[in-house]
Amino acid sequence: MIDFKNIEYVRPSLEDFKEKVQNIRFRLMTSQEVEAAESAIFEYEKLMSKFDTAYALCNILHDLDTSNEFYTDELEFYDEAIPTVSELSSGVLSILLNCPCAEQLRLKYGPMIFRKAQNQKETINKEVIGLLTEESALENEYGQLQSEAEIVFAGKTLNLSLLTPHMESTNRIERKAAAKAIDDYYMMRKPKFDQIYDDLVRVRTEAARKLGFESFTQLGYKRMERYDYNREDVDRFRNAILKYIVPITVKLRELQQERLGLDSLMFYDLPCMFKDGNPTPVVSMKDYEKVTGEFFRKMFEADPSFFDVLSDHGFTDLLSRKNKSTGGYCMYLEDYAIPFIFMNGNGTADDVATVIHEGGHAYAAIKSSESSPFVECLSPTLETCEIHSTAMEYMSYPFMNMFYGDAAEAYCQHHMVDGLLFLPYGCMVDEFQHIIYDDPDMTPDARHKVWKSLEEKYQPFIRYDDQPFHAAGGAWMKKDHIFTSPFYYIDYCLSQICALQLWNESRVDMKSALVKYNTLCEAGGNDTFLNLLKKAGLKSPFDVDVIKTIAYSCCDFLDL
Ligand code: ZN
Repeated sequence: MIDFKNIEYVRPSLEDFKEKVQNIRFRLMTSQEVEAAESAIFEYEKLMSKFDTAYALCNILHDLDTSNEFYTDELEFYDEAIPTVSELSSGVLSILLNCPCAEQLRLKYGPMIFRKAQNQKETINKEVIGLLTEESALENEYGQLQSEAEIVFAGKTLNLSLLTPHMESTNRIERKAAAKAIDDYYMMRKPKFDQIYDDLVRVRTEAARKLGFESFTQLGYKRMERYDYNREDVDRFRNAILKYIVPITVKLRELQQERLGLDSLMFYDLPCMFKDGNPTPVVSMKDYEKVTGEFFRKMFEADPSFFDVLSDHGFTDLLSRKNKSTGGYCMYLEDYAIPFIFMNGNGTADDVATVIHEGGHAYAAIKSSESSPFVECLSPTLETCEIHSTAMEYMSYPFMNMFYGDAAEAYCQHHMVDGLLFLPYGCMVDEFQHIIYDDPDMTPDARHKVWKSLEEKYQPFIRYDDQPFHAAGGAWMKKDHIFTSPFYYIDYCLSQICALQLWNESRVDMKSALVKYNTLCEAGGNDTFLNLLKKAGLKSPFDVDVIKTIAYSCCDFLDL
């Protein structure tokens, strides 16, 4: 296997790309023989893979050292090139749909690539390109505002992420002050955020109508590539969460209040789960690579583990340092069929769940590398991708003493509680967007009232004090997905219910849970969400009984 440092970055030539695509289109359009059509379409796949790989590599190299201006400039090339490449690619796929050999290709390779081609055709055309550019400019404006946030706290100017530890502080006065600082900050910018969101709703609705949809919701579902479930299914899912999970979260908050010894649990107390703080790893940061490799060896009974191999060849970079981008991800280098794990370990409670989460994505990427000859079908839609990662977090519980020593049990309980508290929040973010896009002319004030009523429904324990921004239903403005990735959020909830099914099975039979997990990973993206679940022997999260069973198992685990 190649070492990461030996992979050479070369900028793809856009001219060359255009020329080749033109030739491919012509061949695909005129081929009467399936072999000729195959040779054309797979030449296109190779071209796409090469472009995707160069782009991924450029991103990684940039994020590893943001002081290297070469890659910053290179990224600008992609900003300009990607719309052209997407349009060219969309052109090839739309020819595939109707080329003389379409039927034979469909029989031989299955319907997935055709579904994707059809979906792309319905969600984008020349008439809406201008609106899409406007939409992405608005999204960038929101992102920019968020990343530039400077909040004065205790005499220091902090960004939103540096303020987080203060909000989780075991000192109540400190976390109250931090929450107040955030409230003040957003209160001041509320008109700006309202304006951006208002424009986004307008632009998205206009694009949807131009494409022949009634509202943006339908287009949003198409953009998320939801081939086999609709808003009625999602509605039923949210109602089941309301019925079976919300009561558990109310109980969990009562217990938290007792643990913290408070008369009442206020909004600013919510992030502080334990009187002495959240459990942190006992492993020192320099040993993360080694222990994670060991963990995956035990998990999959394989020596070396896939993680050891990635680590030995330089495809992991786990620790935070100066001039490294923030965040964590797993990025797949298609030409090499190797994933790269990037994160910013800093010795806090999140490190271990993050490395295991990204490890799950990486494992799935390796397992699925031969699931389809089409690069578009290697990785599944997002709710399925998040099962790969989230299930790994849950199935890791029996091994957590490797990272947390005596605090392993506390970590697992905390992790489970976090997951349960997330479900109603995720549903609330989703329902909010349905209401907003059903009534795009709603005033900003009315939108805040909608959020407030949803909080009463999904988070009945929330008590705001002297926090006028939050009390008036403003909290949704902090959630970037609402602005930048419409309708994405429910995917995390759907994947969580599926991941919890695997966890529940792993409690009694780890081997059979892993068989299902492996089947899901190996299937890649060559089928739709519910079909992939069926193949892996998992039940649909839209089945209300599944949610009920999970709720009982979680209560059992947490001794509720
Ligand atoms: Zn993920």
